[in-house]
Amino acid sequence: SLTIGIVGLPNVGKSTLFNALTKNDVLAANYPFATIEPNVGVVGVPDPRLAKLAEMFSSQRVLPATVDFVDIAGIVRGASEGEGLGNKFLANIRESDAICQVIRAFKDENVVHVDGKISPKSDIETINTELILADLQTIEKVLPRLQKEARVKKDIQPKLKAVESAKEILDAGRTLFAAGIAQGTEAAEPLHDLHLLTTKPFLYVFNVDEDELADESFKDEQRALVAPAEAIFLDAKLEADLAELDADEALELLQSVGQEEPGLATLARVGFDTLGLQTYLTAGPKEARAWTIKKGATAPEAAGVIHTDFQKGFIKAEVISYDDLVEAGSVADSRAAGKARMEGKEYVMQDGDVVEFRFNV
Ligand code: GDP
Repeated sequence: SLTIGIVGLPNVGKSTLFNALTKNDVLAANYPFATIEPNVGVVGVPDPRLAKLAEMFSSQRVLPATVDFVDIAGIVRGASEGEGLGNKFLANIRESDAICQVIRAFKDENVVHVDGKISPKSDIETINTELILADLQTIEKVLPRLQKEARVKKDIQPKLKAVESAKEILDAGRTLFAAGIAQGTEAAEPLHDLHLLTTKPFLYVFNVDEDELADESFKDEQRALVAPAEAIFLDAKLEADLAELDADEALELLQSVGQEEPGLATLARVGFDTLGLQTYLTAGPKEARAWTIKKGATAPEAAGVIHTDFQKGFIKAEVISYDDLVEAGSVADSRAAGKARMEGKEYVMQDGDVVEFRFNV
């Protein structure tokens, strides 16, 4: 499955956040015998629709979609110079499908900042610089050969152009993602085999003091720093406390600081979206479940997530939109109201589709 790598300078609260994440590990909760890697946290994507479906179908359990977070430890500054830990750090980032940078905004004098001052802007630049330098090294390795080849092979030209313009962006100190050359887009296609780090989608977690959680002008300033990437604001210490509490106590603590949901819930949802993923829903007496697919997946591809045989033998999918199902009250009533659609092989799955597949075995 796709993973999000968590990076950040020392002392910004990465471990605190990651520990809170692993306390919410849905693998540990639902699959007690699963092997859990120490640096991976598997977090449920909160979806209130599942509880409603479970009620309607008397499901025994609820299984949300999940996101895998990987704690990428290691020094950051000088990583691109390829010293020991630096290499490992970059290799771990290369294996991640998205990069989540934790940035310190909390002020605590007892916690030393590596650069002696709290500055989200310069922290972001420090990390970006390492990733940009690593990408520039990759490009400088292939560029001379590409230029040579392009002289004899005309079809190399578009790739050479793409690499040269990527180099210009990086030379100017920008990530490729920020310049719109994101992994999975057409613009990034010619660069695909270079596995450049800065084409990965980025998201930013600002580890803030409690009073900053509701400070909209402060948050807007930070959002502007990282756009087009998403910014999430949380207090890692508060998240660690929340992870220790039962649901009622956690809700009370959240309300006391004016928050609607834990920052980790927001992080899971935004992370899932940043990875280019969406869900569809199934429900029955056994379980109410959200299944993970890529945005734009067709009905047979969606069926394949449950079982490869479902995809091979796909006939059609009976689809009811969640809102229609809730309004009608049951599958039978949805059918009677003409809200159950039979969809074929070309159907592109939509958010909130509640599905039952018909297939040959
Ligand atoms: P890491 O080096 O990025 O993994 O940072 P840690 O999670 O180890 O945190 C470094 C120190 O900062 C620890 O003493 C934490 O207790 C403290 N810390 C982490 N998050 C917060 C926060 O949100 N507020 C405050 N005041 N302290 C924090």
